[in-house]
Amino acid sequence: MRVEAIDLVTVPMHLAVPLRTARARRDERDVLLVHVRAAEADGWAECVAEPEPTYAPEFTEAARLVLRDHLVPRAWAGPTGDALALGSHLDTVRGHPMARAALELAVLDAQLRAADRSLAAWLGATARSVAPGAALGLHDAVEDLLAEADQALAAGAARLRVKVAPQRAAGHLEALRAHVGPGLLLQADANGSFAEDDPELDRLDGVGLVCLEQPLAPADLLGHARLAARLDTPICLDEPLTSLEAIEAAVALGACEVVCLKPARVGGWIAARAVHDRCVELGVPLWIGGMLETGIGRAANLAVAALPHVTLPPDLDPRGRFRPDLADSRLPVGGVVAVPDGPGTGAVPDEVLLEGADVVRGLRP
Ligand code: MG
Repeated sequence: MRVEAIDLVTVPMHLAVPLRTARARRDERDVLLVHVRAAEADGWAECVAEPEPTYAPEFTEAARLVLRDHLVPRAWAGPTGDALALGSHLDTVRGHPMARAALELAVLDAQLRAADRSLAAWLGATARSVAPGAALGLHDAVEDLLAEADQALAAGAARLRVKVAPQRAAGHLEALRAHVGPGLLLQADANGSFAEDDPELDRLDGVGLVCLEQPLAPADLLGHARLAARLDTPICLDEPLTSLEAIEAAVALGACEVVCLKPARVGGWIAARAVHDRCVELGVPLWIGGMLETGIGRAANLAVAALPHVTLPPDLDPRGRFRPDLADSRLPVGGVVAVPDGPGTGAVPDEVLLEGADVVRGLRP
């Protein structure tokens, strides 16, 4: 396969289910898509960068610029129709894993469509369906958290992951645990908002969480290691796990007992597969985190969520984040979401919604 042109497509989207975290609130998202055009097939991928650099240093405008001026020009230097070979050309750019991941996945998507093979099969996925997990936003009032939990459970969530912050963590989670009962899988994500000596973290230990995600600042691996020794609840890291090497270091330090794997945060789906395999060797559980993706990104995440060592439910909000969505939101049926088995990721954007898009068209060699 030979890539003929690459378009960068930005679609303004409104979140039907907004999300507030300890650091930001999301109501809108300019969704950046990479569209690879080849004679044999087209490929599509969603760049998951957010509008502001509050989760990671990357953000949508920066990702678009890096793709246009640095990553796409490097892609033309190599055999552009081979996603595996593409990596060595893109790796001269430091950082910007979400932009890199989108370009690599769009090429891989076109390649797999041309070969009539699904991304899930190519990655070695074994599950045909997965139970979805929901991420609940940060609320000031406990009643609002319980109401959102009821919505997510009614929609089919198999586990709840709750955004927390100081003073809105232990009391909220204790009330939620009492509300949903002892059996439901519960996680909390602090997005780095706690100080290590905060006693609220010890109180959270009594809630029976599957894991406590990113309690301390992303760079504070030693603090997370001390906290992991102090608490019974397994510590999960998200923000600092930007590569396989970063994950190995965090696990070796005792700072990370559960891995939140976001394929785009580690530079792509090929790297994500390597992370999965290394986590098997290390004996570290992992689950697939979400970045408020549209149906385009959800389909690609489902392929890694179906890998054999991914035992916890992924972020795949059963309420659907966008209405209308850019592609099939893949909402659960009978409590599970089917893993796409069509060619490539199995998702293409809705042409009507693309009419409002801002397109940088035809980046060529
Ligand atoms: Mg997180």
